[in-house]
Amino acid sequence: MTWRPLSVHTRLTLWYAGALLAILVVISGLSYWLLARSLAQDVDRSLVTLAQVVRDAPRGNGFEEAEWWVRELLDPEHQLFQLLGPDGRLRMRSWRLRDDRLPLSAAARQSVAVGHASFDTVLLHGERIRVIALPVVRNGRLVEVVQVGMPLAPTERTLQRWLEALLVLVPLGVGLAAAGGHVMARAALRPVDEMSQSARRIDAEALARRITIRGTGDELDRLAETLNGMLARLENTFGEMRRFSADAAHELRTPLTALKGTLEVALRAERSGAEYRAALASALEEVDRLVRLAEDLLLLSRATAGPDSPRARVELETLALDVAEVGTRLAKDRGVTVRVGALAPLAVLGDGGALRRALLNLVENGVKYTPAGGRVELSVTAADGDAVLAVEDTGSGIDPADVARIFEPFVRLDTARSRESGGSGLGLAIARSIVVAHRGSLGVERPAAGGSRFTIRLPLA
Ligand code: ADP
Repeated sequence: MTWRPLSVHTRLTLWYAGALLAILVVISGLSYWLLARSLAQDVDRSLVTLAQVVRDAPRGNGFEEAEWWVRELLDPEHQLFQLLGPDGRLRMRSWRLRDDRLPLSAAARQSVAVGHASFDTVLLHGERIRVIALPVVRNGRLVEVVQVGMPLAPTERTLQRWLEALLVLVPLGVGLAAAGGHVMARAALRPVDEMSQSARRIDAEALARRITIRGTGDELDRLAETLNGMLARLENTFGEMRRFSADAAHELRTPLTALKGTLEVALRAERSGAEYRAALASALEEVDRLVRLAEDLLLLSRATAGPDSPRARVELETLALDVAEVGTRLAKDRGVTVRVGALAPLAVLGDGGALRRALLNLVENGVKYTPAGGRVELSVTAADGDAVLAVEDTGSGIDPADVARIFEPFVRLDTARSRESGGSGLGLAIARSIVVAHRGSLGVERPAAGGSRFTIRLPLA
């Protein structure tokens, strides 16, 4: 038989019933003890009163007067009393005692000798009897000892009945409470079962489904809302991934189709060596484009996964000078100048190679989208506790309506020009992923003088 964990509502019920049982057992024990104590006190108090009555009863006609008084107070079965002399010898006893004697223990004898009343519990014909020994002292001398007894059977019967009642009531109460608790816990947890059922129906294909919110505004509704929020984010991410795969496939297909076309045309007829060379050169161009695209895709996936080398100190001054040098080489053929502006000696923690890639992508774009005679300026400054790496150009600028889009993968604003310049549309997406992985942000603004200004903000080391 396999062991199945107990359901939450069963466990709740067990805990609840266990706690209630413990409380009731403690309370019952306490009530039993208090009742026993108060009954015993009552018996002792009555014994004191009776002993005083016997002591003070007139003795003219022997013992009858005392018996008469006690008879007024007790039923005949309970008239157990006797008088002892100071030496302990029996002087008189009640009718009910007949041939018996109430015993006087050694301790009681000592106690009355010094004038104190004493209580004892003794056995008489198998019956438990509580006995008081009350000394009668006159002129400082013990003259008599009055002993009165009272059977304990009635108080013991009362206690027994209370115990029996508890033994029935406590299990009954716990049983009823557990049954009620079980029903309540089941009802309270039923929505959880329903939630898990509706969650089970949601998979990658049905991410648009949501868990039903009952509208009670309680914890379970909040849980459902939280799960729905998570589903919405997952759905969004899945959607982005699908779009990304489709775009990537599309991007791959374009150079591949061109490559196929070039090769097919070259093979269709006998060609001269020069023509073959031209076809191969064109094919190589497409292959280059494919290699760049594959490299960019790899870079993007690495950047999204976060830095893989341990975070090290990266000096931004050195980084900017290095990138500016590469930019200058790229810009030479296009008649664009790359300059270095303000250079604050700042450092951040991170992956130097990845940050260089991000900054270089911005400089490359600046060079690509700035017409001849223009200028690209790189600077490093500090603002609000962050390092700000800025790349400003005097190029075409970006329409504010397009700003949100350009950081998405495969987005190119001016397709003809971008393709001609060899861009895959991944440069800004890669840069943004790298910066975000460094807990920074990448933004773009439009300087008053025209062109665009991209800024990378990173927390200072
Ligand atoms: P691409 O490979 O096309 O350069 P990017 O992700 O780097 O891809 O850039 C996305 C688009 O954003 C570019 O196609 C271009 O239209 C626009 N863009 C990027 N940088 C600049 C810039 N400095 N000036 C004007 N437009 C830019």
